[in-house]
Amino acid sequence: MKPKLVDIGVNLTDEQFSKDRDQVMERAIDAGVNTMILTGTSVNESQQALELAQQYSDYCYSTAGIHPHYAKNTTDSCYEDLKLLFQAPKVVAAGEMGLDFNRDFSPRPTQETVFQKQLQLAVESGLPAFCHERDAADRFTAIAREFRDYLGGLVVHCFTADKKALYQYLDLDLHIGITGWVCDERRGTHLHPLLKDIPANRLMIETDAPWLLPRSMDKRPKNRRNEPAYLSWVVKTIAEQTGKTYEQVARETSETARNFFNLGPDGQSRRHWEGVR
Ligand SMILES: [Zn+2]
Repeated sequence: MKPKLVDIGVNLTDEQFSKDRDQVMERAIDAGVNTMILTGTSVNESQQALELAQQYSDYCYSTAGIHPHYAKNTTDSCYEDLKLLFQAPKVVAAGEMGLDFNRDFSPRPTQETVFQKQLQLAVESGLPAFCHERDAADRFTAIAREFRDYLGGLVVHCFTADKKALYQYLDLDLHIGITGWVCDERRGTHLHPLLKDIPANRLMIETDAPWLLPRSMDKRPKNRRNEPAYLSWVVKTIAEQTGKTYEQVARETSETARNFFNLGPDGQSRRHWEGVR
C-alpha cells in the first residue's frame, strides 16, 4: 500500500470543480491523498474553502487570506473577516498572501501593505503563513524577515524561483512548497538540482489544482484540469531527483506538513483540541 500524501495547496473552490467535487475527492482518497489543505485567496473564497473543509471534514482543512492579485480590493473590513475565519477549527493557516511582481494585478506598494497586514494577523492568531511569491524574492525576503521571529511558520508555496531565493528562504527557516512545476520539462528543470538542497523537514508538496497539471503524466486528461489525485507525479519527480524512494518522499513530506499545519489525527487542528495558540 502506498503511503498517504498531504496536498498542501488545492483550489477546490474553483468553478472547474463545481460539477464533480465528490468524485474529485474520491479519486484523491483512492490515490492515497487523504489530507488536503484548501486554499483561500479572498475573503469570499476563504469562506467557501472553509465550508468545503467542513463538508469533507475527514480529509480537508482550509486557509484564509487575500492573494496579492486581489490586494487592491482589500478594505479594513476584510481583515476583520479574516480574523473571524482564523478562529474556525478547520482553518490551519493564514493566506494565501504574498507578492506577485510577475503579473502585477495590484500595485506593488499595495501588495506589500496587504501582505504585511496579514502577516501581523498570522502572528496574532498563532497560525502559520501560506505564501505566494513570483518575481519578488528580495522584497518578499525583507518583509518575511520582519515577522519571522514571531511567526510559527511560513511556507513559500509553489516555489519556482532560483537558487539564490531558495537559500534566502532556507536561511530564514521558511518551508518550501513544490508543485508539478518540477514535472515540466520546458520551465521546471532548473528546480531539479535544488530539490536535494531542501531539508526534508522543510519540504512539502502540492498540486495547486486545478492549475499546473504535471506534464510528466503518462495519460494527461483532455480537459487539462489538475486534481489532488495526481500529486503522486510530483512525488515521483522529487524521488528521482533526490535519489530517495517514493515511500520516503511521501512519508517525509506528510510528516512535515502535519507538523507545519499542526494537524491532529482526526481531521481536527491540534491548536484547537490541545488549546495550542
Ligand atoms: Zn499561489
